[in-house]
Amino acid sequence: MSVSAGCFSQAAIAQDWQQDKTYNITILHTNDNHGNFWQNGNGEIGMPARATLIKQIREDVEKAGGSVLLLSGGDINTGVPESDLQDAEPDFLGMNMIGYDAMAVGNHEFDNPLDVLAKQAGWAKFPFLAANIYKDGKRMFEPYKIFDKQGVKIAVIGLTTEDTAKIGNPEYISAVTFTDPKVEAKKVIEELKRDHNPDIIIAATHMGHYADGKHGSNAPGDVLLARYLNKGDLDMIVGGHSQEPVCMEGVNQYADFKPGDTCKPDVQNGTTIVQAHEWGKYVGRADYTFKNGEFTLKSYELIPVNLKKKVEVDGKKVRVFIQDEIVQDPDVLKALKPFKEKGQAALDIVIGHTNGELVGERSIVRNNQTNLGHMIAEAHRERAKADFAVMNSGGVRASIPAGDVSYKDVLTVQHSVTSYLRGYDR
Ligand SMILES: [Zn+2]
Repeated sequence: MSVSAGCFSQAAIAQDWQQDKTYNITILHTNDNHGNFWQNGNGEIGMPARATLIKQIREDVEKAGGSVLLLSGGDINTGVPESDLQDAEPDFLGMNMIGYDAMAVGNHEFDNPLDVLAKQAGWAKFPFLAANIYKDGKRMFEPYKIFDKQGVKIAVIGLTTEDTAKIGNPEYISAVTFTDPKVEAKKVIEELKRDHNPDIIIAATHMGHYADGKHGSNAPGDVLLARYLNKGDLDMIVGGHSQEPVCMEGVNQYADFKPGDTCKPDVQNGTTIVQAHEWGKYVGRADYTFKNGEFTLKSYELIPVNLKKKVEVDGKKVRVFIQDEIVQDPDVLKALKPFKEKGQAALDIVIGHTNGELVGERSIVRNNQTNLGHMIAEAHRERAKADFAVMNSGGVRASIPAGDVSYKDVLTVQHSVTSYLRGYDR
């Protein structure tokens, strides 16, 4: 279709799809990647396997005449040192290779200085979307993007939690404003309808899903967003931030979801809400049909990405794949390997030496003061030029043996990535 220049009224924005024809549209999604471009210590997750899975789905859907849209709920940054040390370059490279269409901006995208965020937006071959982030009175990112899938117009709006103002690094975000995403969404939807008349509207959000909208001390999330809007205005929310598999049972209750189980997304005020846990553990797959203006969810699943479970074999616990192993995509593997190696080398750099063991063992540190606890508290005191400092034992997560101390040792003690470095349990 072509709209001739000068025709901006809604009547001029004619539909491009055919009456009575059924279109198959598959929405794929992940969220809260947090630096997990590589598989973990147990051979789970990782972008090379994710790439194979998504490539296969795309081929299947397209062979059957359908279309795929791949979205991220944000928080690509922070959590795995190999990624953090390289400004998440491997993660954005991996997303490019996998073919992401758009991403919501997450609060952790503001962990780095704004020029790093700008650099990342430059690396990405897909837009960072956020309708409610402003700097100097202007939006920092595109509020939405419209995708044309066989003539079906899909608008994707980006929204970010207002909590970013509280939990982001104040050094970098003092000049950035996070407005109410619900209010902003309503405005943008009105604008979209007026100027573009999209057939489908999806919000890619980084706001969190809280069952029945009970958000506690967090900012309101996806449920209250859906309830705030006019019914029918928003077809789907692809979320992130709360790092949950959003799988419901009964009314407003989370199901006791385990990998491989069926997953029933939340529906609020006519809006389907999905979230794929975290770290690329799953790819969410929502198969829709579009016919005569109706967008209908036919099936939904959270597909595990090489997740394992522990089983007992000859009296010993071993980890086995929950589903058939997904072979890692060789091209993505090859492209990301140098980043893995470079990150690894940086982590192995010796940054200090200790004559004796620095004690951070959980069983000791949770009930007693230790030399490592004292040292960390003293370091914080000195850095902040404070009169005194308190170190909580939950932030002292491992011991450092006598001898050379590497950067990785420090991160293992201090960072929440301990579970990653050791391989995590569910
Ligand atoms: Zn977040």
